[in-house]
Amino acid sequence: MTRNPNHDILFEPLQIGPVTTKNRFYQVPHCTGMGWQRPRTLAQMRKVKAMGGWGVINTEYCSIHPASDDSLHISASLWDDSDISAHQLMTEGVHEYGALAGAELWFGGVRSANLSTRLTAMDVASLPNSVGHPFQTRAMDKNDIRDLRRWHRKAALRARDAGFDIVYVYATHGYLLANFLDPRVNTRSDEYGGSLENRTRLVRELIEETKDAVGDRCAVAVRFAADEYEEEDGKPVHGERREMLALLAEYPDLWDINIADYSLEMGVSRFTKEAALEPYMDFVKSVTTKPVVTVGRFTSPDTMASQIKRGVTDLIGAARPSIADPYLPNKIDEGRSDDIRECIGCNICYSGDSLAVPIRCTQNPTMGEEWRKGWNPEVIPSKGSDATVLVVGAGPAGLEAARSLGNRGYHVMLAEATDTLGGRVTREANLPGMSEYIRVRDYREQQLLVMPNVEIFRESRLTAQDVFDVGADHVALATGATWRSDRFDGAAYGAIVEDGSGVQVLTPDDIMDGKLPDGPTLLYDCDGYYMGGVIAEKLHLAGIDVTMAMPSDNVSPWTAMTSEQWRVRTHLMRLGIKLIMSHNLEHFDGAQAMLECVYTETPKVIPVQSVVMVSQRRTNDDLYAGLLAKADGQAENLPFSLKRIGDCEAPAIIAAAVFAGHRYAREMDNPTDPDLPMPHDKVDVSLVKPARQQKALEPQLVK
Ligand code: ADP
Ligand code: SF4
Repeated sequence: MTRNPNHDILFEPLQIGPVTTKNRFYQVPHCTGMGWQRPRTLAQMRKVKAMGGWGVINTEYCSIHPASDDSLHISASLWDDSDISAHQLMTEGVHEYGALAGAELWFGGVRSANLSTRLTAMDVASLPNSVGHPFQTRAMDKNDIRDLRRWHRKAALRARDAGFDIVYVYATHGYLLANFLDPRVNTRSDEYGGSLENRTRLVRELIEETKDAVGDRCAVAVRFAADEYEEEDGKPVHGERREMLALLAEYPDLWDINIADYSLEMGVSRFTKEAALEPYMDFVKSVTTKPVVTVGRFTSPDTMASQIKRGVTDLIGAARPSIADPYLPNKIDEGRSDDIRECIGCNICYSGDSLAVPIRCTQNPTMGEEWRKGWNPEVIPSKGSDATVLVVGAGPAGLEAARSLGNRGYHVMLAEATDTLGGRVTREANLPGMSEYIRVRDYREQQLLVMPNVEIFRESRLTAQDVFDVGADHVALATGATWRSDRFDGAAYGAIVEDGSGVQVLTPDDIMDGKLPDGPTLLYDCDGYYMGGVIAEKLHLAGIDVTMAMPSDNVSPWTAMTSEQWRVRTHLMRLGIKLIMSHNLEHFDGAQAMLECVYTETPKVIPVQSVVMVSQRRTNDDLYAGLLAKADGQAENLPFSLKRIGDCEAPAIIAAAVFAGHRYAREMDNPTDPDLPMPHDKVDVSLVKPARQQKALEPQLVK
């Protein structure tokens, strides 16, 4: 296939200072949960993106000095020369495929409490740590500013020596430099505070000094926010940002533009759609002649080309689209846009950073496994035999297993009980704001439909006998899970209605099946992820008076991991949904719901006609039990291999089901020996020397 000429503009080279990118696909800096701790894992992940055609590939935030330590989150680091070789793994891998590598030099200031290094954090003023640690910063004096400039310069030199082509001055996201720019927190009376010129002084100095240090070899980029805040109606307020950008316009080689509200910049698809930053960009290209990059969770090549043609941006910045599909540029280049694995905007990738574990992705199960498992999203070994495989259930796990086994060349039979594929994603995508989740199904269904070696049987609810009758060599059960109407109270599962009382309790499955509760309703959410809030919204939109109760101290606590909690709570509050935090649901009698404070056990009675439980799920393992029953309870007695995958093995997030399906497809004929050590990207202690040593002090007697 050939490239659509409308997309040619995306493949035009562009000069950025002393370097040239081969195309307009620019992976902006993004966190990985790997950073300095997992250099091989990180390097291979970035290298795969270079294989996939990205023109520029950046690091995550890269600390320039131990005084900027974001523990427990894992940044990259360029603290001393021993960091250089770790970064070389990445730059060499990226260069091998003709891409440029960029390093985002970072100093956290008020956002880093330095919990690991225990150095006093410093910022433009004495400020409370902005992520909630009970630490304040030291207001930087002139010496501190001199230190910072020296550290930045040294880190830039190390970045150059590590082989980077672009070096950043990072002036957004509430970190140190953003605070120097911000008149609300920069209350200094010296030459770094007050006037616009003074507040931009440090950023300008760092740009100049970075250029002076590495500018002959590396481009210098600045990350900068185009607005100060956003109005209630979502309109950006540029404030003095235009003037500020104009003042600095020609100093760097590249402007990487984002916005003040991170929850919108990194917005989940429930609240934020593609190209959401465009209204913020209206002035940027008119005040600088330098190349500009911005993001927008772009997955449509038409939108990307249009952004460049209309002069919104010069480069297509992407973090999530490059995670969901590291081969996105090559697919567009080859005229295969339909093969793009589009990001669904779930932000599971962000949870890697939140939880300090390697990044994972709902759409791309190979993300984070490039080094440890040697996986590549577009390359999979051919089949190891002529065996046939039956996959039962076409939710995310079954679809991914069938797709990947199909890619391997196996003869696959995919049986699905209903007439639609997709399982839970098809159902959940109909809930308010969740439509993009359907991409999990659509990508896989589209791929499967053109595979001659994959047969799909819809409306085929298989029994154990049916599975035997199919006569496949391998059977994967991906039959999913069903929401429970009881709840786990910390020790045991227990019902909240009296046995035999006839009082009905609904579950998310009932709501997704189209049932609605009668009258005022209590929604009890002890799942803690997105489902509670989404179902509450669905009921509210149906005109039902909803109260949402939960044992947690905040709404949908796990959505904090995906950087959406603030939006979720704001949204529910604005809808007028009543919220009761820190309460367990003990009992419902059809007219009253009895709650109890989790701290004091004080009861609280809510008069409601209905209760919807968003609690745990029960695995759909009847088929598994039926098959084992035919084999004296021993899977090895069966005439086929048998494995449960996804929610029917253990209910979890969609990303886990997709991963399970993919893993099954890769390992079905080559299972991992559980006794073999798992590759562990750890530091070899025999090679480690302390990077910073105090001069040895002679022991002295205290007189
Ligand atoms: P997962 O997230 O693990 O992929 P889902 O719940 O999304 O699980 O999907 C499970 C799918 O399996 C559903 O589409 C369901 O209709 C299907 N299914 C369940 N039991 C059977 C069965 N016995 N035969 C065929 N399909 C089944
Ligand atoms: Fe997109 Fe979700 Fe993958 Fe992140 S985890 S890249 S948001 S699909």
